Amino acid sequence: MSGTEQVNNQLKKITPKQLAYLMAMAVTVSSFMVSLFFNVVLQVGASVGQLFGLAAITGLICYGLFYWALEHFIYRRIKLIYKNIHNRKQTHRVVVDKVDMNKHLIDEVEDEVGEWAKDYQTEIEQLKRLENYRREFIGNVSHELKTPIFALEGYLETLLDGGLYDEKINTKYIEKALKNAERLGSIVKDLETITQYEASVLQINWGRFKIYDLCNEVIEEMERLAKIQNTEILFKEGINRNLIVQADSEKIRQVLNNLISNAIKYGKENGKIWVGLYDMEKYVLIEITDNGNGIAEEHLPRLFERFYRIDPSRSRHHGGAGLGLAIVKHIIEAHHQTIHVRSTLGKGTTFGFTLQKKKFL
Ligand code: ATP
Ligand code: MG
Repeated sequence: MSGTEQVNNQLKKITPKQLAYLMAMAVTVSSFMVSLFFNVVLQVGASVGQLFGLAAITGLICYGLFYWALEHFIYRRIKLIYKNIHNRKQTHRVVVDKVDMNKHLIDEVEDEVGEWAKDYQTEIEQLKRLENYRREFIGNVSHELKTPIFALEGYLETLLDGGLYDEKINTKYIEKALKNAERLGSIVKDLETITQYEASVLQINWGRFKIYDLCNEVIEEMERLAKIQNTEILFKEGINRNLIVQADSEKIRQVLNNLISNAIKYGKENGKIWVGLYDMEKYVLIEITDNGNGIAEEHLPRLFERFYRIDPSRSRHHGGAGLGLAIVKHIIEAHHQTIHVRSTLGKGTTFGFTLQKKKFL
């Protein structure tokens, strides 16, 4: 440590009151020395006691002056900066009116300014991230909405240009227009859900139910979609039908809905889907497995991001906006549980999530 740094460190340890005292002491000693010198040179004839008294009075006056000057010109101003920073950081205004000359003010201000600068930097970084997120979100939303809107416009224009009277296409085009309007509706609904989930802590209506029964209901609801792809949905052999979980049944229905519909949509035609329920002592593990084409490893870490799709054109053909898995992840995390995916190209994919297990309904 250099000499200047050492002096600076020593100075930082001194309170304003001690500083005024030290400065006054320095003036007292020097005024005593000077008056002693002049007393000898000019032979004034004053006694040492008188000189000492004079130096003491000078010292006292200087102490008062230094104290006042330090308080008014330096520390009050520093305190003002400190107060401003403090008030910016706190929601409640901090009243710092009087300067406490016995405190290590410089140290306090230095710490406070350092902390404030750090907070400020974090705040700026967070704002930048939010800005990027907002821009990306709006870009994705408009991109998703464009496709069904253009399709809807196309069908309606053709119908207006005479297609309405063409028996061969009129019903078909009206049906297609309706399908695109439905798709718009479902994208807007998913957007609403995801914004709600991301903006606030998700409300969970806790209840107890048999997870097998809920899976069965969802499978029945999916029958129509499964038939189109000629997909068979089965429970794994030897499944325990009595496993009870503690969760929000409607939200878990939404999770199963997306996972099973994904397995149908992105699995293969004439494929198979297995639903497995595993007793893990404290948890129940629910797995949805398909024997589709699988997902390449590089996509797996990003699968739960909003709007992330492996093959956007194929997904869009199925009406997907890429929001389903993001919603699923929010729901599972709000239950303080986890979701994972494993997949082998050419063999199939398994999505698994856990739920809290209970002994009684
Ligand atoms: P949405 O669910 O909003 O209607 P989506 O199904 O396209 O649209 P996600 O459910 O989030 O969106 O799925 C994201 C992407 O993950 C899908 O587009 C698809 O590419 C891929 N994916 C999901 N499940 C499977 C699966 N079982 N097999 C292969 N790929 C899958
Ligand atoms: Mg989906």
